[in-house]
Amino acid sequence: MDEQDYLMTLLELYGEPDGPGDQWTPAQQAWHQARNQQLGISNAPPSKDALLDFRESYIRNYLLAPILETLDPAERMRIDNVPIAFANLRTLNAETRLAPNGKPVILLNQGVASLVSYWWEMKAALNHIRKKSGPKASESHLLESYSFLLLFYANNGQASYPRSFEGITEEEMHVVLIHSIRTEIFILAHEVQHVLLNHLRPELDQGQNESEEMSRRGRQELDADRFGMLTYLNAWTMTPWFSGSLSTTDLLVPMDYFTLRHLIERNPEIGPSAAVPSGHPSAEVRAKALLAPYFTSNNPIHETIKDELRDWMRYFLSVPNLVEHFTEISRHLHLFETNGEEKP
Ligand SMILES: [Zn+2]
Repeated sequence: MDEQDYLMTLLELYGEPDGPGDQWTPAQQAWHQARNQQLGISNAPPSKDALLDFRESYIRNYLLAPILETLDPAERMRIDNVPIAFANLRTLNAETRLAPNGKPVILLNQGVASLVSYWWEMKAALNHIRKKSGPKASESHLLESYSFLLLFYANNGQASYPRSFEGITEEEMHVVLIHSIRTEIFILAHEVQHVLLNHLRPELDQGQNESEEMSRRGRQELDADRFGMLTYLNAWTMTPWFSGSLSTTDLLVPMDYFTLRHLIERNPEIGPSAAVPSGHPSAEVRAKALLAPYFTSNNPIHETIKDELRDWMRYFLSVPNLVEHFTEISRHLHLFETNGEEKP
């Protein structure tokens, strides 16, 4: 079994995330249609095969192509042949595995794409709701959105949250799309670095006890983050959306992926523990490790962005524990326990 066959077996095993286009709900159809328009694709993909083709070309053209441009020829050769696909992993982000023939395969959780997009859609909508209905309404919208994000994991990756564009302008929708692509490039760059840094060589595991193994994996995660962020920043400059100079936004947009993880880790009663694979450092450790060099740097350029980074960190740390503070969540949990049917 080569790595391509292995990937197809995994896709069969995990099933199709949203299912083929003809099985989408009206809300899913509307969401995909709007997104495809933004990507310059006229129609939603109709069949399962077309959907797989569409996903593959999306990964190749939008996420992988700019990453490959940043690699030297030898590295590019190693990554270009690695099969990459979206799958319904039911864990938070992405995974690099070895096929039985020893070659790597990269799986991205399809949920991450819609989850990240939903996160930015929700943030764009918050401003409109605040202006129209006041801060209380926007706060409860935020809490409800947090609940939906957590429910995504409680429901084993079924996109049960509403994909509504209410109040969002076309321009904002475009920003949502670009922000999502940035985050996806960072997530893929992290996995690419696991391959390039040889983190998958099983012979390195031998002769180690469990705690050594855990700390080794923890270090590998932080290394993949650090090099992955550098790869992402370089890759971003290769995309058609790059403005001409790197900004703090370019750094902080994919950092918000850790905010999502942080939300899940703070609410283990709702987001199941499977969302945080063992051996992975917490989102807090990872976010702090990524920003630390900017805080300790003597570079005068970094001096000017420290306040912005501190603001981001404050916001990151303010993600609430929903179970402790909000009884509303129990209604959603109840929905989960009854397979989405509300009890009278
Ligand atoms: Zn990793």
